[in-house]
Amino acid sequence: MEALTPAPLVHYFDTHVHQILCGLRGFDHRSTKHSRGVTCQACVGLLGTRLAADAPGRSDVASAHGWKAS
Ligand SMILES: [Zn+2]
Repeated sequence: MEALTPAPLVHYFDTHVHQILCGLRGFDHRSTKHSRGVTCQACVGLLGTRLAADAPGRSDVASAHGWKAS
């Protein structure tokens, strides 16, 4: 059993630049293209910023209505 092994961080893999969003390099890190599976706080933070910046039309609507990206 691997009870002492901590749950590995899962980073967000940016398919546009083909690297992990928070800047880690190498293949030793777990990553996903699905934002909901990301556990790395740095990646989550960057991802939230990026989503807001990448969807100008939607973010305008969202902010006008006080919606939160989830
Ligand atoms: Zn990360």
